[in-house]
Amino acid sequence: MIAAWHVDVAIIGGGTAGCSAALALRKRGLTVALFERRTVGSQASGVNYGGVRQQGRHPAELPLSRRSREIWPRLPDIVGDDCEFAATGHLKLARNDAQMADLEAFAAVAAEHGLEIRMMGANALADAYPGMVSGVVGGSLCPSDGQANPRLVAPAFARAAARAGAEIHEHEAVTGVARDAAGFRLETDRGGRFTAGSLINVAGAWSDRVAKWFGERAPIQVMAPNMLVSEPVPYRLPVNIGVCGAGLYVRQIPRGNLIFGGGKGWADRERIVARPMADVSCSASARLAETLPWAADATVIRSWSGIEGYFEDEIPVIGPSTTTPGLVHAFGFSGHGFQLGPAIGEIVTELVVDGRTSTPIDAFSISRFQRAGHRAA
Ligand SMILES: Cc1cc2nc3c(=O)[nH]c(=O)nc-3n(C[C@H](O)[C@H](O)[C@H](O)COP(=O)(O)OP(=O)(O)OC[C@H]3O[C@@H](n4cnc5c(N)ncnc54)[C@H](O)[C@@H]3O)c2cc1C
Repeated sequence: MIAAWHVDVAIIGGGTAGCSAALALRKRGLTVALFERRTVGSQASGVNYGGVRQQGRHPAELPLSRRSREIWPRLPDIVGDDCEFAATGHLKLARNDAQMADLEAFAAVAAEHGLEIRMMGANALADAYPGMVSGVVGGSLCPSDGQANPRLVAPAFARAAARAGAEIHEHEAVTGVARDAAGFRLETDRGGRFTAGSLINVAGAWSDRVAKWFGERAPIQVMAPNMLVSEPVPYRLPVNIGVCGAGLYVRQIPRGNLIFGGGKGWADRERIVARPMADVSCSASARLAETLPWAADATVIRSWSGIEGYFEDEIPVIGPSTTTPGLVHAFGFSGHGFQLGPAIGEIVTELVVDGRTSTPIDAFSISRFQRAGHRAA
């Protein structure tokens, strides 16, 4: 019989959530092994839009999002790389009065959480961003929101975790886990045998399968946001923009490329492939030209998509398993988990080490899907 390698905590998934957890756990002195089927940050964490946004979140997510926002500017100290984070602000644009009223209502909720949102009418927008946007009646600006380069973040956390002593197993999928009195017994597709005192399920759009090994239901829906990037054009857009109800979000990086998205691509999580759709890309380009007429001639040079797990209520599962002591879940970020990633590592670490976290997470319990009558996945 081959002896299993033992660690205090095993992590399934090398996205931003898993890699930040590996670092946070090492900081608390635990031994850690992270398993990633491909390379760290190769799925949603590495191919997303790069929005670091608190504005527009479900109110239950605001404390978590606020906590994560405090970490982003400290990345150079924490992981040795700023990951191109910039607090450019996020401007949500309204195309009619009803949308403006929705933005105002959110600003009031945000204020309760200490999040500053500035309402801007059409004149204020024209003064602040002359000739920039068209077809809108106003908007709301969250100055502390921003953007970052998604390709850099999970690998930077993984490198920092490895320097701190975490084992990062890339190209090694966990194929099964059993729980007995000794803890968790993991098997991998490379023939690895590991035991762990605790297990963290941060396997992204595949996390429901891990939950199922422990008898828990999580009705994930797989979706693939459709993304595009243009050739570099003269830099004009200092702020990250989202347009209410138009399925358009756009940011410009200092090199000049416009990164934008809207609508859904296509994904097959069995084969781990995601593709943009030509008609969706054309619609997003047309909406970009309507909203930012100065960008209408920018040529799209690449389009892509990625695989993300969504829940119907658009908030994640974060918290302890309801069936299995020592198992902690964090997944189903429903299209907005990149911003949350740095805080997820700290929170799951607190749950493993202290059995509690200072950030309110009750709304995210997986128990909401175990209740009688909840629709099957
Ligand atoms: C196109 C797109 C645009 C987005 N835009 C934004 C945005 O602008 N802002 C924002 O905040 N969020 C955005 N999101 C959402 C965000 O990217 C995700 O919520 C977040 O990255 C999820 O991180 P994660 O670590 O939980 O999951 P992932 O990054 O998916 O990582 C999970 C990892 O687990 C691995 N894995 C799964 N099963 C196993 C197994 N059995 N063994 C080993 N490894 C396994 C996978 O290979 C994967 O790498 C976007 C998502 C997409 C797809």
